[in-house]
Amino acid sequence: MRSAFPADLIVRCGIREVVLGIHIRDALLLNRDAFEVWAPRQTTCQSFPTMTSSCWTVMKEIETIRYKIGIEPDLERFLFSGTTEISLEANRVVREISLNALELAVWGCKIHLEGEDVECSFSVHPKKEVVTVHLPREISGKILMKIHYMGKINDKMAGFYRSQYGRRGKTGHLALTQFEESDARRAFPCFDHPLKKAVFDIEMTIDEHLVAISNCPIQKERLLGNGKKQVTFLQTPRMSTYLVFFGVGPFEFVEDPGDVLLRAATAPGMKQYARYGLEFGRKSLAFCEEYYRIKFPLPKLDLVAIPDFAFGAMENWGAITFRENLFLHDPDITSKTGEERICGVIAHEMVHQWFGNLVTPSDWKYLWLNESFATYFGYHVIDHYEPDWQAWELFLQSQTEPALHRDALHETCCIEIPGGDHVVINASTAPIIYNKGGSILRQVEGYIGSERFKEGVRHYLRKHQYANAASEDLWQALEAVSEKPVTKMMKSWVEQPGYPLIQAKRDGQQLFLLQKRFTYLPNESTQHWLLPITVGILLPNGETRSVTALMEDRGAILDLGAPGVPYKVNYGQTGFYRVKYEERKDLEDLGKLIANKRLPAPDRWGLENDLYALLRSGDVPLDDYLAFLSHYLHEDAFLPLMSIAENLFHAYLILQDADREKVADAGRSILGGVLRRIGYEPEPEENPTVSMLRDSVLWYAVLFDSKDAQEFGQAKFSSLMKGSNIHRDIMKSVMQIGAFYGDRNVFDWFDERLDTSDSEHERMNVLAALGKFRDRELIGQVQDYILDKVPNRNRFVPIGSMALNPDAAPRMWDWFTSRIHALEQFHPLHYERVLAAIIPYGGLEREQEVKDFFVDYLKTKDQARDVIQLSLETLEVHSRMRRKVNSSIGS
Ligand SMILES: [Zn+2]
Repeated sequence: MRSAFPADLIVRCGIREVVLGIHIRDALLLNRDAFEVWAPRQTTCQSFPTMTSSCWTVMKEIETIRYKIGIEPDLERFLFSGTTEISLEANRVVREISLNALELAVWGCKIHLEGEDVECSFSVHPKKEVVTVHLPREISGKILMKIHYMGKINDKMAGFYRSQYGRRGKTGHLALTQFEESDARRAFPCFDHPLKKAVFDIEMTIDEHLVAISNCPIQKERLLGNGKKQVTFLQTPRMSTYLVFFGVGPFEFVEDPGDVLLRAATAPGMKQYARYGLEFGRKSLAFCEEYYRIKFPLPKLDLVAIPDFAFGAMENWGAITFRENLFLHDPDITSKTGEERICGVIAHEMVHQWFGNLVTPSDWKYLWLNESFATYFGYHVIDHYEPDWQAWELFLQSQTEPALHRDALHETCCIEIPGGDHVVINASTAPIIYNKGGSILRQVEGYIGSERFKEGVRHYLRKHQYANAASEDLWQALEAVSEKPVTKMMKSWVEQPGYPLIQAKRDGQQLFLLQKRFTYLPNESTQHWLLPITVGILLPNGETRSVTALMEDRGAILDLGAPGVPYKVNYGQTGFYRVKYEERKDLEDLGKLIANKRLPAPDRWGLENDLYALLRSGDVPLDDYLAFLSHYLHEDAFLPLMSIAENLFHAYLILQDADREKVADAGRSILGGVLRRIGYEPEPEENPTVSMLRDSVLWYAVLFDSKDAQEFGQAKFSSLMKGSNIHRDIMKSVMQIGAFYGDRNVFDWFDERLDTSDSEHERMNVLAALGKFRDRELIGQVQDYILDKVPNRNRFVPIGSMALNPDAAPRMWDWFTSRIHALEQFHPLHYERVLAAIIPYGGLEREQEVKDFFVDYLKTKDQARDVIQLSLETLEVHSRMRRKVNSSIGS
């Protein structure tokens, strides 16, 4: 490993200006090869160029054995120098080797031949993100290659990047990595594909006073006498490049010793908030080891809270990284909703240590094997340790419902996404890969039973550990233990988009079921799914009998046992489909069982949620939906109430005039009743779901013009501005209400609060509230503020909030088109979120203009194509709903 960063480089490649601090792009003009590699990635996730076939062929012929990576970061100039030594095994004779590299200035390459290092020429292909090393002669068998390069510690939250910590003049930087899916190539040349597993030896040369973290524990540290030290980490197990991690900075730690040393790592001053996450990390680890019956294979696991982070968290093996608000916990500030999210994210990342890290998808098309499992098992962990949180009701609300919504568009995709070199967790695919995939796993577990599911999962993990797997490997494992047609069933769910609407109609004691693809806009699909259907038959004696059948064709007939008895399709709501009762009386009978709570909460939720989806698709009139809500006047469960609140809010945003008034009336009546029953102020011992419900419902009730809620919220906010404490579990709503009635003084108060708060959780509350001003001038001011003052990582938050503000939404489209160049510079995932927020609401009443704009846009750019298309379709769904509801009133 090289040690002194600048001197060596000056001698070796002559790009002295880099070392002296002149802008690196200028400096690299001196080295044409290097400059080319610096060309930034031009295209987006959906359209990254795949590797050339020759490169791919070489990859297949070459096994990666080991990477030895030396990194020396310079946190003042935000540069790093790197040396990567790669041990390979070529199964056939090769003359050149192509590796992925992006924005790296490669300046030297050697190969070890017959006892000595031989210089190799190389060429770079920036658009392909490849550097090709030309070997001095044909070689097969073992190859040892060494590449020297430089890179930037960028500010893109991808590759090896920097994050700022601290406030009020006391700031500094951390440098760390984020590689999934295809950004390891920004930090070291490699075969950047999950299939190409290897072991990694990582060594960092850093300032003496800093700390380095990587996947494995430190093996040794050596002082170099020049203010620097060399930190060598233990070798990793065989793993994929996207899971490699290294970071450097003045990290602070809280330790929890054990068989596996668990550590929380934070930026300076934040470790006092790490204990809560660390404790839940320990529980999640224990749950996974017990459920999967495979010990965590590394001696330590770090949970690292990072101020600037694009995603929620990242499962790097042995060094999981988090956004601060998804790991740090302040008992005075973090709400119950915040706690649930912290635990949910920790559990999700912990599951990845097995699903993803130990067994890795053999191609990105099988990414669902990571994300669907992590999503689903995350709730198992919560359910196990925090039964009061009603994990499976939260699952239906935050996973299944968004998936049913996302997948009701024509513009959707399969759970098994197209594979290849690059793809792609983005705003289009994530709800399918995470939420729908997780929901389908719940459907499978419901079908084959929990014990067999567990057995199958253990078998799958044992068989493929330290290696890769495809979808079929999982199906075979589940089929072997259950002796049920899992493969056939899963193929129908994983390899085709969409899901069915089950139309139910009875004749005597026979129940006729018909399946048809459900989409908001009309479709002519002939698809069908292999679907386990459970029907609850609610007998007059108070008992409920359930019948489960596997629906293999488009139609099925079930025997209800008696005529006239109420029945509920998708009883328990484990199935991923919607239901339409063709006879009004059947639905009305169920309504009575909602009112008297005879039906369980998930079923009360399912009936309302399906009915609202049918309102969106134009199959049910607004009046019918609102009339059905009368059965929920005494509802007390979190799940159906959250769904009603959110659906009424959605209708309120879309509909106008008298229609909007009707929706607000219904909202006032139901949500006002809820607030009277649970109280406006949080109670010390109340169930956490009550706290979560209140913090949402309070804001919606104000929007629906509930005078009591308005009075309460305004009084609370004015005492907050005067310095009083407000309970953390109503803080989000109260801040939003404050902005809703707020003026310039309120805006200044938020600005100050954003600047001075130590808590990212509080900053998120402030940013959401900033989106709720009604005054035209203040809306404009917030729009400027977002681009001038809000940190990159959080800019999408107030934008999303404004898109859901009835007064701000109509002002978002012109702002979007006038500031598009700035918005395009956001992290790709955040830019997609901005599009998905603004188009469907901000585009109302100007649909043609919005469509025409993107027709032109997509002629020259490929950026966010999928998300633009799905957002335009959502806009069409909204316009159509507005028109249909309006015309049905008139007729
Ligand atoms: Zn994940």
